[in-house]
Amino acid sequence: MDAKSRTFLVVILLFLLIGLLSSSRSATTGTVPLSYDQFKSLLRTGGIEEVILTPKTISGVIRSPLPQGVVSVHVSQQLERLNGRFSTGFVDDPGLIPLMEEQGVSFQGRSVDNTALAFISWIAPLVLLLFFFSFLSRRTSSNGGGVPGVMGKSRARISVQTDVGVSFADVAGVDEAKEELQEIITFLRDPDRFTRLGGKMPKGMLLVGPPGTGKTLLAKAVAGEANVPFFSISGSEFVEVYVGVGAARVRDLFDQAKKTGSCIIFIDELDALGKVRGIGQSGGHEEREQTLNQLLVEMDGFDSSKGVVILGATNRPEVLDPALLRPGRFDRHVVVDRPDIVGREAILKTHVRNVQIGPDVDLHLIAARTPGFVGADLANVVNEAALLAARHDKDAVTLADFEEAIDRVTTGLQKKSRRISDKEKRIVAYHESGHALVAHFSEGAEPVHKISIIPTGIGALGYTQQMPEEDRYLLTEKELKSRIRVLLGGRAAERLVFGEITTGAQNDLIRATDLADRMVREYGMSRLGPVTFREHLSSNFLGLPREGARAIGPETAQALDREVDRLIEDRFKEALSLLQGKRELLEATALSLLNREVLDRSEFLRIIENPSPPLVLLKWT
Ligand code: ADP
Ligand code: MG
Ligand code: ZN
Repeated sequence: MDAKSRTFLVVILLFLLIGLLSSSRSATTGTVPLSYDQFKSLLRTGGIEEVILTPKTISGVIRSPLPQGVVSVHVSQQLERLNGRFSTGFVDDPGLIPLMEEQGVSFQGRSVDNTALAFISWIAPLVLLLFFFSFLSRRTSSNGGGVPGVMGKSRARISVQTDVGVSFADVAGVDEAKEELQEIITFLRDPDRFTRLGGKMPKGMLLVGPPGTGKTLLAKAVAGEANVPFFSISGSEFVEVYVGVGAARVRDLFDQAKKTGSCIIFIDELDALGKVRGIGQSGGHEEREQTLNQLLVEMDGFDSSKGVVILGATNRPEVLDPALLRPGRFDRHVVVDRPDIVGREAILKTHVRNVQIGPDVDLHLIAARTPGFVGADLANVVNEAALLAARHDKDAVTLADFEEAIDRVTTGLQKKSRRISDKEKRIVAYHESGHALVAHFSEGAEPVHKISIIPTGIGALGYTQQMPEEDRYLLTEKELKSRIRVLLGGRAAERLVFGEITTGAQNDLIRATDLADRMVREYGMSRLGPVTFREHLSSNFLGLPREGARAIGPETAQALDREVDRLIEDRFKEALSLLQGKRELLEATALSLLNREVLDRSEFLRIIENPSPPLVLLKWT
């Protein structure tokens, strides 16, 4: 390093130091720290004069004289000394704004505590760093090296492929998803013709499925089939250190794409940047929010008839910000699920195309031996088998190589994800059968569509899928009760068969409680009569109370809770006694689930109609 760059570094370090010092001296110095509930009780008793909200802190001034008895003498002395200035941590509390309005408190929000300080602590080092980088890049380019991407307009991470070289033939076992994507291909091939004929393209489609099921591959294949450029970027790359870079990159991505004409913009790992705003206020949070907002703005702002289609992929749809899923954004979802045995065989076929395989290799058998494997695992198996054969100097890959490869990949998988023991698998089988049977025998419950005990990798060890017979806008009280009963069916089965319950029903319980709570507090379906009791039916965005909201006294709140408890307890008892009466069916369903891992509707109905002859438990690996 020469003298010039050393001085540069020193200057930057100095500025960073100043920045650090000044940012620790934020708006909260010279104030009395209060706990949030102290602050709130002061607010409630009219003791607050003025409030300033920032993303991380709440500060302000206490009204004097201070109301008696709300805070300790010690705290009130401190407050007096500091002219009543206090601060507390920011809590995501939708009731805060309404309460302040009610109390006539003057309040204001500030995005940054102090603009001048923010300038020194962040912008200055940033500018310097930019300066430094461009200095470096000038040096490298004068040495004949390439100019590294300049921040803000960095094309480096946006990858553009004009010919992806992947077609639908390369993606197997996901026929339903392909069918749904076919429309996009027709559109991209000739957008004008498509729109002339009255077709209207959705702007964004979201590929949803566990890791390794081929979402990225599928998105590429769509570009390949339609023969259009493929712009791709991964959500995790958006989350940069400096605020504003991700947003700039999104703008850049859309600008480039718009100039291209027909093309696909693919945002992989959408969950990394599209997490629900306001959750997990850790570092990079503000940056992610800005990037997400920019994405929303871009999606709203462009004309989908020009032939640009946005595809997204995620394996965690449940954490996505609802704003991303609104109409005009990622409003269509394509499920890319784990392949069944037929799908696995098809995937294996695509991967052995370029592999010499021996005559004894039966892909159907291999597919049967790999339940729960996704496309990426199967690709891994083929690769591993080929390596093994090569190591043994064979001319072709034999069945024995595949067997060993499966074992290797399986142990690899088991290391990665917690191994599910046979006992756990049994519990899951009964749990899911419980849901399914309660659903089947509950009046007003949606029919069972599919039961699975293949772990989804996103928390659930199995699932029972129900399919509504028609779109519903109104639900009767009976139907809501049935839903709760079905949700509790899993735990009821565990209690009945094993005499003990597990943590596996947590999500069911959350959903059941939520439903019961709504029935009581929102829909007026309880002994308390047809009244709404939500304290603040707040809208998601502004946190403002809707009309009709009202305050609830402690006795009413207790009565409401009792009603919720009763609703749930009664449903649990019903589920339990229903399953007791259908014990034979419960055993039969659980047993076939253990054997087959997945039961579709017709298989399930067959078991219900004819639970005997007795089933034997096959050993699965
Ligand atoms: P995801 O994006 O869903 O995590 P990928 O598309 O990255 O999965 O898949 C990784 C690799 O696994 C692919 O490159 C491909 O080789 C293989 N693969 C996954 N799914 C399939 C499939 N349905 N058909 C063929 N190969 C697949
Ligand atoms: Mg992927
Ligand atoms: Zn369950």
